[in-house]
Amino acid sequence: MRIRAAIARRGQNRFAIEDCVMDPVPRRREARLRMLACGLCHTDLAARDQHLRTPLPAVLGHEGVGVIEALGPETEGLRVGQRVLASFGACGECPSCASSAPAYCRHLARLCLLGQRLDGSSPLSQDGAPLTGHFFGQSSFATHAIVATANLVPLGEDLPAALMAPLACGVQTGMSAMVNVLRAGPGDAVAIFGCGGVGLAAVIAARIAGCERILAVDLHEERLALARSLGATAVARARRDIDAGGHAIARGSADSRDAGAGIDAALSIATDWGGLTHALDTTGQPAVIETAFLKLLRPRGTLVCAGVGKPDAVLTLPHNLVMLSGKTLRGTIEGDADPRTFVPRMVGWYREGRLPLERIVRTYPFEAIDEAVADMVSGRVVKPVLVFEQE
Ligand SMILES: [Zn+2]
Ligand SMILES: [Zn+2]
Repeated sequence: MRIRAAIARRGQNRFAIEDCVMDPVPRRREARLRMLACGLCHTDLAARDQHLRTPLPAVLGHEGVGVIEALGPETEGLRVGQRVLASFGACGECPSCASSAPAYCRHLARLCLLGQRLDGSSPLSQDGAPLTGHFFGQSSFATHAIVATANLVPLGEDLPAALMAPLACGVQTGMSAMVNVLRAGPGDAVAIFGCGGVGLAAVIAARIAGCERILAVDLHEERLALARSLGATAVARARRDIDAGGHAIARGSADSRDAGAGIDAALSIATDWGGLTHALDTTGQPAVIETAFLKLLRPRGTLVCAGVGKPDAVLTLPHNLVMLSGKTLRGTIEGDADPRTFVPRMVGWYREGRLPLERIVRTYPFEAIDEAVADMVSGRVVKPVLVFEQE
């Protein structure tokens, strides 16, 4: 069948919306969706710009909401006509998937980053040549998609598709990192580095969890104001050189690290609080992570890394300080979430008015994808969501 899709090509920093061909028949554990909305995530740009090894040309997009048009074998529990959220791709059968940890699926690299089915095939082609068409098990920057059903979550018909889309990846990552990985709660002092969609979702989750002190750190004044209105009890503006030169700082002298890595304001607040019990990094900047770990965390505190760093980013930590501190440093994919159980929890918070997604989402018609990208990159919009048709 013919569909319209936003195609990313090598060396082009714009998406081309063109016709392509989709094999309409869903295979085992797959569904065909008519898309309603799809969020834009930094990982889409990392793939387009080849910081990830996703083969181009590709149809990206991995925060899809759609309506099931057809189902393949072994898709019990789903029905045609149902509204669903497509979270990240997973096989549904390996040991990680079987133990509710699909973010660590044995086949995650193939299904998500390489954007292939397990047998290497793609449901999409153009002029007879294959397009990468199973990105994160979905490739939802398109009017229709063949999606993996392992992490397909039914949504109530009354839920607005555009607001639900970020629950598939960005919002899920931030909230689940706070709730399921850090497990912060009342009495805790937490910090969130980077206030994009993931970071702000973590701020909201920290408030829901009842954390007593919540520090948000970002480069942009407007983001910090938003963080405060969403539950941060303190904010600290990072110096701009983290953004432009974080990498240079990380490779530079010990002196530049000692200068605070651009987060001196955060350091002084954390010091006033007697150190942080928990911290979440969404920046992927080694200088920020090292300083937060060594200087902002209190003994036995935990820092979780949830941001994608540059391919050659390296952390350097003095061994004896790590050993003596009792601190924990760990990473997470998708906040360790199992979307089948965590998405319904987030929907519950949305229904209770505790997860104000409308405060971070801005919608764009599908055709305006490049404008949406520009607004996300400039920091003007936290979470752009493409909309395929009027609901
Ligand atoms: Zn798996
Ligand atoms: Zn994402």
